[in-house]
Amino acid sequence: LNAKLVQAERLAAVGQLAAGAAHEINNPLAIIYARTQLLEHKETDEKKKRDFQQMLAQIERITSILNNLMDFARPAPPRIEKTSLNDVVTRATALVQGGLGKQGIRLETALDPNLSPILGDANQLEQVLLNLLINAEHAVAERIASQGSAATAGIIRVATRLGSAGRGAVLTVTDNGVGISKDNLSKIFDPFFTTKEEGKGTGLGLSTSYGIVTGHNGDLRYDSTPGRGTTATVLLPLAVPTGTPRSTPAGEADPQAI
Ligand code: ADP
Repeated sequence: LNAKLVQAERLAAVGQLAAGAAHEINNPLAIIYARTQLLEHKETDEKKKRDFQQMLAQIERITSILNNLMDFARPAPPRIEKTSLNDVVTRATALVQGGLGKQGIRLETALDPNLSPILGDANQLEQVLLNLLINAEHAVAERIASQGSAATAGIIRVATRLGSAGRGAVLTVTDNGVGISKDNLSKIFDPFFTTKEEGKGTGLGLSTSYGIVTGHNGDLRYDSTPGRGTTATVLLPLAVPTGTPRSTPAGEADPQAI
């Protein structure tokens, strides 16, 4: 697997674990602080009072460390700028192409050459696309493995186009992999939800991707038929919404209108 993706997933995993742990520790710590404060107030013995004050100072220190940890774990806000979605696709597909080829999985791209620029953070969107592609790869590889030599050829298709109302960009990643059951479909965006075997999945790829896409005022949707395949659809706002005067502030692109 390429190092960039592994690194991105690992960072996301560490960050989410840290944030989760920090959050859990904060509550009991607040109770300990309040009780200690009460004891310190009531204490008349000067020496014991100083001991309680020291305890309070140390709890405050832990609290500030936890707050720093939670700040660090929070994903960076996207650096939104005029971006070519097709370029993002080209970079991401180049990273997975070799690995797909080795497994006999065909990668097809159908990029709309006239697609106007979107508003987005190219690095974050590349990470999203990598997550979608790697998931598609796993799903196709799993189906091929379960069908043996009788398997139909594995295909992953990546396409970009203008949304139907002409106001946003649409990116789809379609695979003919194992598909997702109706039950699982409602859980795929949950942090740590994974059907992959121990050590192979973190269950963070799609929760992170969903966070990134909605952070762009976009949307991420899944359609799947178990045994037939899956389509992931990413909707993103255009830098200049078509059909709207050019003077419209770019930030007002409305993905709901796609
Ligand atoms: P991970 O890949 O580490 O398991 P993700 O959040 O990326 O975590 O995905 C969660 C789960 O969603 C996967 O374990 C898999 O069950 C399911 N999934 C995601 N994409 C696909 C796909 N294209 N085909 C089939 N299942 C998928």
